[in-house]
Amino acid sequence: MSRPKHAADWQAAIYAKHPHWIAGHHPHMAVGDGWAEVLARLFDRIAEALAGEPVPVKVAIVDIKEKYAELRAELLAPVGPETQAVIDRAILLAEMRSECTCDECGREGRLRSTLGQSGWLAVKCDIHASGYPRLVAKGPPRRRVRDRRGDYEVVYDRVTDAVVETPVDDMDSR
Ligand SMILES: [Zn+2]
Repeated sequence: MSRPKHAADWQAAIYAKHPHWIAGHHPHMAVGDGWAEVLARLFDRIAEALAGEPVPVKVAIVDIKEKYAELRAELLAPVGPETQAVIDRAILLAEMRSECTCDECGREGRLRSTLGQSGWLAVKCDIHASGYPRLVAKGPPRRRVRDRRGDYEVVYDRVTDAVVETPVDDMDSR
């Protein structure tokens, strides 16, 4: 794996690759350099999703940041529900990949925290775990997701960069 570039370089490269569909300003992505590939892949997937639109659209990048050690991406896209669902899925994959990707180097990492009552959370690989001695995440990233089809438990697989979905019985949430 190549050395991670600095934020100014990789972020400029992402924005330069996608000039046709990004509207307005290019906000600074407030994440570690280790997530450069996660974000490059997210923007590629959004470009693919938009390629199916009948007319060219512009997407506003509202905010891309780290919150509680996870990627948060907020975009405004004037698209129909089907394209929106593809974009939502791309964002889900990026956010879940961030949960298991070292924010310094991009290698596989796990959610860890500093010691103390209000510990700082970060995703770190074994090499960059210094200062984050407490392991928080036990297994692969997982989430409960609700969409038009119902409720699902979604488990992320880092090797395939895909999710496995299991329907959750509605009785559980009633
Ligand atoms: Zn690392």
